[in-house]
Amino acid sequence: MVLVPESIRRDVLHVCRRLYERGLVAGTDGNVSVRLGKDRILATPTGMSKGFLEASDLVVCDLQGRQLEGKRRLTTEIKIHLAVYTQREDVCAVVHAHPPHATAFAVARRPLEERLMPEAYIAVGKVALTEYGTPSTEELEASIRPAAKEHDAILLANHGAVTLGRDVIGAYHRMEALEQLARISLLTQMLGGAQRLSPEEIARLESIRGVYGSAPPNLPCYHCGWTPESPPAASERGSESSAGARRKTYTEPEVHWAGNPPVWERHAATDKEAQVRDLARRALREVREGS
Ligand SMILES: [Zn+2]
Repeated sequence: MVLVPESIRRDVLHVCRRLYERGLVAGTDGNVSVRLGKDRILATPTGMSKGFLEASDLVVCDLQGRQLEGKRRLTTEIKIHLAVYTQREDVCAVVHAHPPHATAFAVARRPLEERLMPEAYIAVGKVALTEYGTPSTEELEASIRPAAKEHDAILLANHGAVTLGRDVIGAYHRMEALEQLARISLLTQMLGGAQRLSPEEIARLESIRGVYGSAPPNLPCYHCGWTPESPPAASERGSESSAGARRKTYTEPEVHWAGNPPVWERHAATDKEAQVRDLARRALREVREGS
């Protein structure tokens, strides 16, 4: 049995409900996944509305897309998620939805201009637009792989959108921001077109994005609660280029997240602790509810 911390299941359900309530998916559209370990993914099932999922509906699979646990059937769109996880070690969550405005750009096969607003640029970054691939096929997976290497937000031609994050809440916020950007972009076109941010302004935002765009520094690891109490050893940090020196204060979480040692090794080491924490939390809740 794969240990899935309760907090992760709760966050996945929360994100699913929000996707549905905000109209970013319709019917049984969309899917959400979280990386639990080196070869373990928690994902939403096929054929169910994201607005009505329960914790027991979530399933566990490996990086080949083989279902390992769960009473429901794994989403057939898991290939979208696997295409991302196999390319990006730093990504621990993927959200796939069909947000109407962003999907309109994908259907028109029109690239989304991201240089419109500073906050949107920081949250979403450059948006990729893939070639069309038939859903649930290797063709679609192959179109996503190169895009996922360089982007945290991807438009799938004639299909929808994918956003990546270090955790599922982050990936969801990026989806919301992407949809908002697409909406504003469309409205701007009705007003005769946007005044883009200048290359200098974009360069300034790029330097900020490294810090705020993904996870804020020094937050505990989303999955196992690991916090950088002490800076990592010089050997762990690697050579310090001028870029390294500039970003020095952010190296600690990166060591944890970016695979040195891989994030899942730490999870394996802390699985026991997580189990104890979950038991303690449950006991506390029972005491509170009993009183
Ligand atoms: Zn889809």
